[in-house]
Amino acid sequence: MSIMKEVKGVLHFEGVALPAVAEKFATPCYVYSRAAITANWQAFSEQLKAPHKICFAVKANSNLAVLQVLAELGAGFDVVSGGEIARVLRAGGKAEDIVFSGVAKSDAEIRYALNENIGQFNVESDAELERISEIASAMKVSARISLRVNPDVDAKTHPYIATGLEDNKFGIPMQDALATYQRAAELPGIEIVGADCHIGSQLTELAPFLAALERMLALVDSLAEHGITLKHIDMGGGLGVTYTDEQPPQVAEYIQAMLKRLQDYPHLALYLEPGRAIVANAGVLLTRVEYLKFNGHKHFIMVDAGMNDLLRPALYQAHHDIVNVASNSSAAAITGDVVGPVCETGDFLGQNRTLRVQPGDLLAVKSAGAYGFTMSSNYNTRPKPAEVMINGEHMHLVRARETLEDVWRGETLIP
Ligand SMILES: *Cc1c(COP(=O)(O)O)cnc(C)c1O
Repeated sequence: MSIMKEVKGVLHFEGVALPAVAEKFATPCYVYSRAAITANWQAFSEQLKAPHKICFAVKANSNLAVLQVLAELGAGFDVVSGGEIARVLRAGGKAEDIVFSGVAKSDAEIRYALNENIGQFNVESDAELERISEIASAMKVSARISLRVNPDVDAKTHPYIATGLEDNKFGIPMQDALATYQRAAELPGIEIVGADCHIGSQLTELAPFLAALERMLALVDSLAEHGITLKHIDMGGGLGVTYTDEQPPQVAEYIQAMLKRLQDYPHLALYLEPGRAIVANAGVLLTRVEYLKFNGHKHFIMVDAGMNDLLRPALYQAHHDIVNVASNSSAAAITGDVVGPVCETGDFLGQNRTLRVQPGDLLAVKSAGAYGFTMSSNYNTRPKPAEVMINGEHMHLVRARETLEDVWRGETLIP
């Protein structure tokens, strides 16, 4: 859900007018709504109660305050690095509620995760399984594991965010899964607890999720025949959101369809790892128009946010709606590309948009709460933007805009 509303032609997040945020913290600036994050979380948590579990995919938005809001709501967390484990713990999340995915976990990350006694590893290869066993045995502890299996299901999404096809780098091929589980059952330092998959992101249909579930249950059955029983299956994240006119399944519909299929498996808990569905529509990127440019046949609306701040349009040709923060009826309507200051032709936030704007006007790039700040960079020596959390009438700066000193911290001149 979005908590964005228009009051007298001015966009608000909860009780705060977005121009006031830009005034106080400047632009570009990410703005999140605590109420929206909470409502999105509750759409999941109302449908899926213990022993089922919801683990927020931290890579979608790893700001400490975002993680704090979710930890206070009782969230679990899906992480893909040691750094994300540290963030969750720093934000007040519990180690036992962490599941650790990722295709190339290092020795140091595995050791750290075992030391903190995280909930489980989602193991993505035979070699990783052997390595976790060695490290856990040497530490005289036991690692709880699920195998991340690749169900070879077409998620029907952008190729860069499809992860469950045979040729993707993620997970263990379904045909090898039984043998790897049998190996896991023999290895010291390993406790098998579940099975895991994640077929892709921004899925707008139920069918691929249900096809993946069917394949996972066939695996569960075959494991049971071989004396290996699981406590849960983790169906990953991937539920899509509405950026413009997509119509993804409702959260309730998505969860109930899976729970219904799981009725025959009463001993099996369902884990989910939503990222985008929790935060995408709880955030916007605020940016200010710098210049308008017309080259004889094409208009450009040049703004102060670029692909270093929000990479999705450049990386995936992703569409984000872009709207005036305060309507400007005195400006003429122009149709053109909304582009940033970065020296790349791919540096656009939106193409062929019609807006009534003048230099100095504020724009909101919508649905920017997921894979926005977390994918930002310092390309072109651009300090990363500020992040602000709205809570009712209050605005909290939850990440200060970077300074140039921040940008080159750690760099040195040679003598
Ligand atoms: C990225 C990712 C997710 C979250 O995907 P969303 O589309 O944001 O819900 C969940 N699990 C794993 C393993 C991931 O890599």
